[in-house]
Amino acid sequence: MSSLIYEPNAYFMSPHIMFSLNENALIKILLQNVENIEYYYPKPYKEEKINEKTLLLYFIFRSFSQRINRIEIYYKVTGKVFLEKVKINRFIGITPLRYKKIMENILFLYNEIYENLSKIFHTNLENVSVRFFTPKLGEVSIQGYTPFNASSLGDIYLNIFYIRFIKGYFEQAAIHELIHHFLWSIGISPEVLWFHEGAANFFSIYLIKRIGFEGAEMIEKDFINKGKKMEYLGFIESWTPYHQPINMQDYYIASYMVFYYLNETYGFEIFEKLFYVINEKKEIIKETSEIVHILNDITGEDTSKKFLEWGFSLSNGNYYEKIFSYKNQIIESILISLIIIFIALIFRIAIKRKFKI
Ligand SMILES: [Zn+2]
Repeated sequence: MSSLIYEPNAYFMSPHIMFSLNENALIKILLQNVENIEYYYPKPYKEEKINEKTLLLYFIFRSFSQRINRIEIYYKVTGKVFLEKVKINRFIGITPLRYKKIMENILFLYNEIYENLSKIFHTNLENVSVRFFTPKLGEVSIQGYTPFNASSLGDIYLNIFYIRFIKGYFEQAAIHELIHHFLWSIGISPEVLWFHEGAANFFSIYLIKRIGFEGAEMIEKDFINKGKKMEYLGFIESWTPYHQPINMQDYYIASYMVFYYLNETYGFEIFEKLFYVINEKKEIIKETSEIVHILNDITGEDTSKKFLEWGFSLSNGNYYEKIFSYKNQIIESILISLIIIFIALIFRIAIKRKFKI
């Protein structure tokens, strides 16, 4: 079992450690080129320095502590990363040499599905770049991300850790990030985050299933099983890249379910029509209500009923208009103005920062 390395970061995770009951297990892990250890779990009972940069760690697992069955180590390594640039048609990969083959496979996958995505979204992408990262402490669960700073989307970053998962997981995460770029290209702001994330998961699973990777079926089943138990989905309406909720997984699932139910009711063509109209509008969509308006036009039905049933509010600023109509309540207005200035200041800081979607 080797570590995942992207200098200066390195990450080691053992396979599940199993041994017979009533016995203890001794596990030795040899780490090379170590600069320093940042975190390990569990704690080794002994550390042996073989030489300046090589470390031998001893872990003892006792049968009564069966709950811990993996070893995880975050550390820094010596040496510089040698990055290689790979270009396959419109996609560019920037990768450490040791992961070049994996990067090529991702770019081949992007090329394979490109026509399909371009047809669904009615748009073309130019020069999208992809990079890898090894997880730092607390990042293992992030499969991939794309930095977003209100005016542009950055390169796609994929967590190299997921290459060890069942075929389909890593690929789904890669396509998920690419779909964010398609959505941005037709003018959907990541500020309607539920729409971005729901679409990114819905269409990536759809494509990965068509290719036939088993991982896709598992992700889909998991989303649908959990999603069908959710009574309301509307809590996702206020989800933005500026605030990460604690129960993030629920937000992804509920966002996915909106697409799942729309597909069930109106069929897949509804999405192609929706993206066509959005692309034609040449305006940036920043509100759920704008999307619902377009859905109404396409279906000839009042789809807002469905959204309201799901618990969406579909309000876009009416609340503030009502407040400001009471002009005689000067004190209240001044207070509200101060609050708005405060929010605007925070927002200004927010748009300067980079967020991840
Ligand atoms: Zn995403």
